[in-house]
Amino acid sequence: MESNSTKALGTTNKIISTNKKKAKNKFGAYTNVFKGLYKRTLNMLFPAHIKCIVCGDDLPEVRQIEVCDKCSAKLNFISKNSCCKHCGAPVYGDAEVCLNCKDIKREFDQGRSVFVYDGEIEKLIAGLKFNNKPYLSRTLGRYLASLYQTLDWHVDMVIPVPMTEARKKWRGYNQAELLATEFCEAVHLPLNTQALQKVRETDEQKELSMQERQKNILDAFKVQDKYYIKGKSILIIDDVMTTGATANACATALKKAHASKVYVLTIAHGKPKLPMQNNMEDVHYVINSVK
Ligand SMILES: [Zn+2]
Ligand SMILES: [Zn+2]
Repeated sequence: MESNSTKALGTTNKIISTNKKKAKNKFGAYTNVFKGLYKRTLNMLFPAHIKCIVCGDDLPEVRQIEVCDKCSAKLNFISKNSCCKHCGAPVYGDAEVCLNCKDIKREFDQGRSVFVYDGEIEKLIAGLKFNNKPYLSRTLGRYLASLYQTLDWHVDMVIPVPMTEARKKWRGYNQAELLATEFCEAVHLPLNTQALQKVRETDEQKELSMQERQKNILDAFKVQDKYYIKGKSILIIDDVMTTGATANACATALKKAHASKVYVLTIAHGKPKLPMQNNMEDVHYVINSVK
């Protein structure tokens, strides 16, 4: 009898304490409900694939990186030893820095990319950017996370390269923002999509020379609130780095707002720049690197 009433008391206490906890966590519980709803909505919009995003074959199991072993072996990863020590571009031979970093002052502290921008990776990025396949950001964001985990960067906050509101409306999303969201979820870093804004539309960078790109993108980015940036080590995320002009422009704005460090991580980096035939200094630089 006594033990029964003790049990009953124990149960009552448990209920009271559970109710107290519930009251205490009411706000947290609501937050979790919203988080769950948000996640379910995302999954509905971007359904989980159990197929390889490169060849479309079934994967043997659910993977964070939805690429089969066969396709993974064919991807052109950029290794630590074969890239520019400053911007992460693939380089010829054992050159320390790429031709762009040799000639142009970089505002960011260091950059790295997962892949060379060619073949299947070029197709995947085109799918993410132009063929309305936002779900590709899941696997690509995880690739960024795996590379980040091999680096010794200390990062306080992640900022995706912003788009103008008009461009975002037209595309329906900012692919850099999707990549950064997946990345932050994997490495548990805070994401800030507001602090840096693109305030001016720029011409398509593809056809422009390095100098033209720098000029085209000058002052296109502005920090909205310096409070969030001052003294922080920031990681910029984008899909592709070509000459690094966009990353440089973002870094210029962030450094003006007193960011302590600016790092850049992209899915892919353009192939090594070939020296211009009339620039013998660059020609010799490349020849000496591959000796
Ligand atoms: Zn495959
Ligand atoms: Zn470089």
